[in-house]
Amino acid sequence: MLALGVRAGLQRPGSHVARAAKFFALTQVEAGVGCPLSMTHAAVPTLRVEPALAAEWEPRVLAGQAFIGMGMTERQGGSDVRANETEARPAGGREATLHGHKWFCSAPMSDAFLILAQAPGGLSCYLVPRASDGIVIERLKNTLGHRANASSEITLDGARGSLVGEEGRGVATIIEMVVNTRLDCVVGSAALMREAVAQATHHCAHRAAFGKLLAEQPLMRNVLADLCVESEAATLSAFRLARAFDEGDELRRVATAVLKYWVCKRTAAVAGEALECIGGNGYVETDSVLPRLYRESPLNSIWEGSSNVQCLDVLRALRREPDAAECFLAELEEPDRRRVERALAGADEEGARRLVETMAVALQASLLDRHGDPAVAEAFRAREPFGALGTLRAGLPLAAIVERHRPRPQAEDSTSRPR
Ligand SMILES: Cc1cc2nc3c(=O)[nH]c(=O)nc-3n(C[C@H](O)[C@H](O)[C@H](O)COP(=O)(O)OP(=O)(O)OC[C@H]3O[C@@H](n4cnc5c(N)ncnc54)[C@H](O)[C@@H]3O)c2cc1C
Repeated sequence: MLALGVRAGLQRPGSHVARAAKFFALTQVEAGVGCPLSMTHAAVPTLRVEPALAAEWEPRVLAGQAFIGMGMTERQGGSDVRANETEARPAGGREATLHGHKWFCSAPMSDAFLILAQAPGGLSCYLVPRASDGIVIERLKNTLGHRANASSEITLDGARGSLVGEEGRGVATIIEMVVNTRLDCVVGSAALMREAVAQATHHCAHRAAFGKLLAEQPLMRNVLADLCVESEAATLSAFRLARAFDEGDELRRVATAVLKYWVCKRTAAVAGEALECIGGNGYVETDSVLPRLYRESPLNSIWEGSSNVQCLDVLRALRREPDAAECFLAELEEPDRRRVERALAGADEEGARRLVETMAVALQASLLDRHGDPAVAEAFRAREPFGALGTLRAGLPLAAIVERHRPRPQAEDSTSRPR
């Protein structure tokens, strides 16, 4: 799978939209390999801060011959990376030896790692080749899901690193990498939703109960349609975000955190509901892929800045960058814009999730109006704030919505392909 991702060029910089389409397809099959591909792709802009390092590493990365990981999280904290304790001791020029631990280090087979450590001038970013003596893998993590990709705890015992960017500006240096991996979290979560919807709609189109196909039972149709609506909204917003990355659009500043929060958060609910559509078999590892999707689904919310961290980042951006709110509001249709303006007026830390959810749903509603299927856009707007999926109001074309999302064998799909 990793070789397939490399062949598709997922480690290479280029058009974010085109890459997102491939990442979306690959993740539907298996999400584990997304992590090393994502980190390696995202590391390139950070490597380019140091032309000599980029000259050495970038050709290998582009050719798929080197992978780059990252080490920020320590025992005492992953959200508060400024509390990192790993020490960088000067070793001449821009070199240092690193001493400390990293509580999470995914894809430890990577060829080099971007690692934060405390230098005399403050928290700094170092590129540490794995070949450097002094990286000790203490143990692999026994994770809930994502089991195709190893994650580890490491000790840094004199590993040699080269400074990337200015000493003391480690967070600012590594943030470009993190912003890119956050986009992949959004695209990856949309892909998990799509896979869950494909499984649920396919199953219910073939399984009967009480003398009728499940997909024809009105209540199940409501559940399936609601899943489809959520998936379409997630997909559309993920790809709009990818376009903002391509165009250097300022929308990206706030929308990345807004969608990292919301799309990733909704994935677990979608996977859980899709699993139930399959019934008991959906809960059985050997009979369904849904258990794997379900176990995978919370991860994108946690890493690369967990939910609350994203919401606080939105508040920070709104406070510090006067254009951030305007760029976001400019993307919204009039009723959505008014709703978000009202929410922004009372924004505070305690209510940050409510604010960010309002912003995310407003953005998705506006995008569905402009680019989505009209029935899906109408259903999305007609949703009421109930907790569970399957609560769409009466009178919507639910069957058509489900049919739009149901995967069809090529022979059956006469609408989009010539016979
Ligand atoms: C499978 C896996 C692989 C990973 N791989 C890597 C990796 O390769 N490299 C790496 O560096 N890290 C990695 N991580 C770590 C991940 O990025 C961190 O777990 C994450 O950033 C959260 O940090 P933490 O676990 O220390 O939780 P904490 O920082 O202790 O946070 C716990 C909870 O508190 C919330 N919180 C924190 N601060 C606030 C606040 N001010 N207000 C309100 N709520 C707050 C958080 O949102 C979170 O929900 C990985 C994690 C997993 C699960």
